[in-house]
Amino acid sequence: MNLLEYESKRIFQEYGIPIPKGKIAGSPEEAGEIAENLGEVVLKAQVQVGGRGKAGGIKFVSSPEEAVRVAEELLDMQIKGFKVEKLLVEEKLKIEKEFYAGITVDRAKGKAVFMVSREGGVDIEEIAKKSPEKILTLKIHTLRDFYPYHARELASFLGLSGENFKQASKVLLSLYKLFKEKDATLAEINPLVIANGRIYAADAKIVVDEDAWFRQDFSKGKDLPYVELSGNIGCIVNGAGLAMATMDTIKHLGGEPANFLDIGGGAGSDVMEKALKRVASHPNVRVILINILGGITRCDEIAKGIVEASSEIEKPLVVRLRGTKEKEGVEILRKAGYAVERDMIKACEIAIARAKEAGE
Ligand code: GDP
Ligand code: MN
Repeated sequence: MNLLEYESKRIFQEYGIPIPKGKIAGSPEEAGEIAENLGEVVLKAQVQVGGRGKAGGIKFVSSPEEAVRVAEELLDMQIKGFKVEKLLVEEKLKIEKEFYAGITVDRAKGKAVFMVSREGGVDIEEIAKKSPEKILTLKIHTLRDFYPYHARELASFLGLSGENFKQASKVLLSLYKLFKEKDATLAEINPLVIANGRIYAADAKIVVDEDAWFRQDFSKGKDLPYVELSGNIGCIVNGAGLAMATMDTIKHLGGEPANFLDIGGGAGSDVMEKALKRVASHPNVRVILINILGGITRCDEIAKGIVEASSEIEKPLVVRLRGTKEKEGVEILRKAGYAVERDMIKACEIAIARAKEAGE
């Protein structure tokens, strides 16, 4: 599960890693309001892919009016197949120096690997190829862990001294702490910068291990639990148990889920509509399977949400609805021209078949 930059930065903040002042905006007007309090700002498209700078998703503006105008353009964009739905509006830092810091998992060796680079901001792979001497890699032995002296070793390699050295050491230690505690497979700051004489994380990227998502709750008051997988069937379900059962059934029948989104209990039509648009926006999704077992969740609300989103969705839908207000829900969907399945296995079979057809 890739967290968006602003979600990652919230976690950074929780762990005491300094980030630029900023707020999230969902509309040009909101972006303008935030800019009013920050002066010169940078508008950053929130999409789950890297390289936004090069793709035109990072823009600098110098007035609230310009922020509104540019935000409108950005919110109209697609970056590498992802629609931009939110912008992070941040104070523009006067960057003096850019570094890289990142922790990943070396799966073959079963170890975490901490990498820092004296040069940052661009692709780390590029730096590794062109100037490997600028990079220091530290393998972390699971049992021996990562200690303050490791962090100091990395910070000193970056050529830092004085207060910046202390600040960076603290940031690197916190980055490791959150990497471990949040079950991350990647925790990355690119670039880590010196601005106004201090260290900041100008960008943030956290990827959480999909197998651990159930014990991590990134959904409180934020986005719905969303997990990205590698197949082509988009899935919308209610409840973690049904999510697992749906994934297992699809796999068992020879299909591959592309992602799934859990709308939780008692979701209204607005949540369903949002969920459908989100899952449909993934470029790998060829068909969307909606598997809902109504308890607190009402099937008629689900059906309304589907109908409301349907005009914007071109991908085939397979709907399985059971439970509370099932009759009403089925009726709403029937009128809109959708067939509804009662049986989950059948619904999965149809979705797999549709995905195959669409793939050819
Ligand atoms: P990415 O392209 O998706 O990795 O997005 P980043 O957040 O890393 O931004 C890309 C680049 O824009 C950075 O490497 C910086 O050079 C630049 N940038 C981002 N934020 C700021 C800022 O506040 N001030 C300045 N001067 N540059 C910034
Ligand atoms: Mn970056």
